[in-house]
Amino acid sequence: MPADFDRLFAALSADGYTVVGPKIGEGAIVYDEIASTADLPQGWTDFQQPGKYRLEKRSDSAFFGYAVGPHSWKKFLFPASLKLWSANRDDEGKLTVQEPEQEPPRYAFIGVRGCEIAAIKVQDRVFSGGRYKDANYTARRERAFIVAVNCGKAAETCFCVSMGTGPGVDSGYDISLTELIEDGSPRYVANAGSDAGQRFLDQLNASSAAESDRSAAKAVVEKTAASMSRSIDTDGIKDVLYAAKESPRWDDVASRCLSCANCTMVCPTCFCHSVSETSDLQVSNFEHTREWDSCFSMNFTFTAGGVVRDTTKSRYRQWLTHKLGSWIDQFGTSGCVGCGRCIAWCPVGIDITEEAAALRASARSAAAALEEGDDAS
Ligand code: SF4
Ligand code: SF4
Repeated sequence: MPADFDRLFAALSADGYTVVGPKIGEGAIVYDEIASTADLPQGWTDFQQPGKYRLEKRSDSAFFGYAVGPHSWKKFLFPASLKLWSANRDDEGKLTVQEPEQEPPRYAFIGVRGCEIAAIKVQDRVFSGGRYKDANYTARRERAFIVAVNCGKAAETCFCVSMGTGPGVDSGYDISLTELIEDGSPRYVANAGSDAGQRFLDQLNASSAAESDRSAAKAVVEKTAASMSRSIDTDGIKDVLYAAKESPRWDDVASRCLSCANCTMVCPTCFCHSVSETSDLQVSNFEHTREWDSCFSMNFTFTAGGVVRDTTKSRYRQWLTHKLGSWIDQFGTSGCVGCGRCIAWCPVGIDITEEAAALRASARSAAAALEEGDDAS
């Protein structure tokens, strides 16, 4: 019930969490700090197609009746701009280096979807799963509290079923919720996924879910999964992409792609970044800042006086081959969770599911042509 949400938000705040969740902003459903249920996008949904996103009114008062917007939780765990250290030089020329003193925030994320939990797990592998851990990411992640929501509505751009990441959540949360709509009003089936989650649920004095409610919650996820129209055939996808390295499809997509990097900015798993040094005019105070970057940026591969990937074709090929193929070699998982953000927020509507299918067809034709050549010789 909405009053329970307000109690939950208050309890999380009292425990030192900064509560962030969905709200309407900039014509979309974005993630930002929220204080109460009044901030949630109640009664709103999102219409999405390749290159299209718009808000629409729902006929009910669901709080979580939308899919995903342009923001993802990476903006809190891996901020777009982060000061790593600063330095200053005194009058005698002596340099003093300071690390930021601020403790990383403790976030409570409200409304995290199955594909988004999968995306957080992907970034966990990148930033804290290896030998060298990113201290700032790891601290933010370890402190985070996750309230997940099973999806009751898929956008036309979603394909999480084919990526095995949604629309339900099965792990990685402290509390999971399923929104049931009855006579236009929402109520919730909640599950605790951790001791901390159970502690907060206990504070709400909610009644135990009836068997019929549990069945209704399961049906919500099944109905959402059945409504999904897009998919990627992931069978052998890495080898398909490696085999399609010289496919003419890369020229085709490059003739449409603007190299704008929108797809990488909205993607919840993309992690490319660069660092920049700035100083004052006296060259006595310096800041070293990490910022999101993209494999679509021309200068991202600037090395020893030259750019390695200087065409849109080579940059798109790098992005897609890494995302769906070489990511598996690097991190043991796909870099795509099927959220569909890159489809909706691409200004020219390039669709990763369509490109992956075209590349599979192209690799198949190339293999057939090779076989024919072998037979003829
Ligand atoms: S590549 Fe596209 S669909 Fe896949 S996770 Fe990134 S934004 Fe979502
Ligand atoms: S695929 Fe679309 S969003 Fe990505 S760089 Fe090209 S035009 Fe921009």
